Amino acid sequence: MNKTALFTCWLLSLCFCLSLQAEESPIAIVIHGGAGTIEKSKLSPKQEQAYRDKLTEAVNTGYAVLDKGGSSLDAVTAAIQVLENSPLFNAGRGAVYTYDGQHELDASIMDGRTRQAGAVAGVRRIANPISLARMVMEDSPFVMLAGEGAEDFAQARGVALVDNRSFDTEQRLQQLHKAREKLQEELQRDGDYRAAVGSLPPALKMGTVGAVALDKRGDLAAGTSTGGMTAKRYGRIGDSPVIGAGTFADNRSCAVSATGHGEYFIRYGVAADICARVQYQNKSVGQAADEVINQVLLPVGGTGGVIVLDTGGDIAMVFNTKGMYRGSRTARQPTRVEIFKK
Ligand code: ASP
Repeated sequence: MNKTALFTCWLLSLCFCLSLQAEESPIAIVIHGGAGTIEKSKLSPKQEQAYRDKLTEAVNTGYAVLDKGGSSLDAVTAAIQVLENSPLFNAGRGAVYTYDGQHELDASIMDGRTRQAGAVAGVRRIANPISLARMVMEDSPFVMLAGEGAEDFAQARGVALVDNRSFDTEQRLQQLHKAREKLQEELQRDGDYRAAVGSLPPALKMGTVGAVALDKRGDLAAGTSTGGMTAKRYGRIGDSPVIGAGTFADNRSCAVSATGHGEYFIRYGVAADICARVQYQNKSVGQAADEVINQVLLPVGGTGGVIVLDTGGDIAMVFNTKGMYRGSRTARQPTRVEIFKK
């Protein structure tokens, strides 16, 4: 080959590479660490800083995966693991207590390319439920495994089981004591367990972590992990492991992770409803999330929030509570972390 032909080849391959690069999607990650009565006056500056630092670490961990060309599923898993490993958030290490003093964890993950999904519910001995949810998705023909069945599945795949007591923290124990007292008072008043649970203040009962991400190939993913609600009855499963309620991802619409009073999020199919509005009504992620959280859920008493992301890299973080631990980073905007309502 002569020099001109060689040069032409080199130029053509350079153009090809540049055009491939130009087609890369604008990467983005959004995370949350739960919604509820989070007020500035209730957090010391030191506590607030600790939350901000951990949220920043989770955002940047997920973003680094995307930046290196990793998948949105890997980014979501990595960001959620950071939050699960921290005692600050109600997931993994910092999980709340059931009424009888145990920890029962739920998680789910969904792949926007294929609508493949995996979930685990009511697991007691899994340190990182999000990773097990992913194994269920990738390594089993099922979508959801619960309790002992999920733990046996984990063990068979080499996941070490941990003691349920390893999720114990003093802060969550205090919350359980307060929640139990409040429940007793309410039960004595009118004897209705449902009313009693409903009367628990959000600060006592809520929390969850989640992430949504968009990778360079334009693929979305969403994941959610939680200890559920403080003083929940054993065996109670919330929205977090329910695909379409607490988690949803589809490249044709958007990716959603929710946090809030799970029973409402299940009954109103919150995550899937938001994506349906994006897909069929051409709504922006911000508008769709605002409609579902503020116009559908709020009037019926459903409190909480969502993070949402679409394939164009547009994001929304919407909640109807006083605050939501949240953070984001996109190709267009550096790491941002917020806690309170603006
Ligand atoms: N959605 C979770 C549940 O109901 C709790 C939360 O997000 O605060 O289990």
